[in-house]
Amino acid sequence: MRRIIVTGALGQIGSELVMKLWDTYGTDAVLATDIRKAETNTGPFAILDVNDGKHLYELAKDFRADTIIHLAALLSAKAEITPLKAWNLNMGGLVNSLEVARELNMQFFTPSSIAAFGPSTPKDNTPQETLQRPTTMYGINKVAGELLGEYYFKRFGVDTRSVRFPGLISHLTLPGGGTTDYAVEIFYKAIEEGRYESYIAQGSYMDMMYIPDALQSIIDLMEADGSKLIHRNAYNISAMSFEPGEIATEIKKHIPSFDISYNVDPVRQAIADSWPNSIDSTIAQEEWGFKAQYDLAKMTADMIEKLRRKLKKKTSS
Ligand code: NAD
Repeated sequence: MRRIIVTGALGQIGSELVMKLWDTYGTDAVLATDIRKAETNTGPFAILDVNDGKHLYELAKDFRADTIIHLAALLSAKAEITPLKAWNLNMGGLVNSLEVARELNMQFFTPSSIAAFGPSTPKDNTPQETLQRPTTMYGINKVAGELLGEYYFKRFGVDTRSVRFPGLISHLTLPGGGTTDYAVEIFYKAIEEGRYESYIAQGSYMDMMYIPDALQSIIDLMEADGSKLIHRNAYNISAMSFEPGEIATEIKKHIPSFDISYNVDPVRQAIADSWPNSIDSTIAQEEWGFKAQYDLAKMTADMIEKLRRKLKKKTSS
């Protein structure tokens, strides 16, 4: 039976992933950890700063974990504000987690990102294997992370696996400071105010994915037959590619009076401009059967339904 330790478990991905892991493997089999305290006490949880490798080792050993899902990180937009902090957390936390996986012979998963590509990468239908010369600190961390994961696999035999996530859209936990956060904020503003001012310019295409597909992809990749995984660090995966005007048009189908305007943030726009318009997920489909269930229309309908319920509850409580 699997026993999993998750770092950065209170973030956008972790807060929903841990619940899915509980459902899949049992509550007692998953230890959620984060540098901050959990607001609700629903399952095994420990405070952990991933820069403290010794503490991570002790927690993983005591929990008898055989799998580590490493999520603690500083995301793209925040990383550009404090690049050195990003380097220390994104690289220091990663190498500590890989070391614990090596020492305790654990399976290892951590997400890479579409940020691992850069301005010289082919922009459309970006291949699995291509030029990766990112110009952001976060992107540099992600490329180094992919290489480090591959190094631990080849050099030490650690079962490392990873995906290049696109921007993730979810309704439970707000995103933590990425460039694609607009695609979540737009739903809150559409429901609460009927309008949204986008910091990303009209016409800027980026890959996106609805959170249920992201969570399922983590479990599917962890459970996949390792002998079939050739590109394990890290797989291109995407569910949709759109620009702000297109998601606005889709939202209008549910909220006809919704209006979008633009006030472009040069920092986040420059990051977006350096990323692909759309990436090719064919290799992930071939090697472990990746398939997304949600396209833009299906995701938008579900987000609006779930957020309406959530925001109504909030105002009535
Ligand atoms: P997030 O910012 O929402 O959450 C990160 C969590 O890490 C937070 O709960 C934070 O408290 C915690 N944390 C910060 N410093 C820590 C430390 N020193 N020790 C332990 N925990 C610490 O991030 P997320 O969106 O859940 O992303 C998780 C992973 O997925 C990251 O590697 C990120 O780069 C990657 N990713 C995310 C997206 C996305 O759209 N959300 C896209 C591509 C890749």
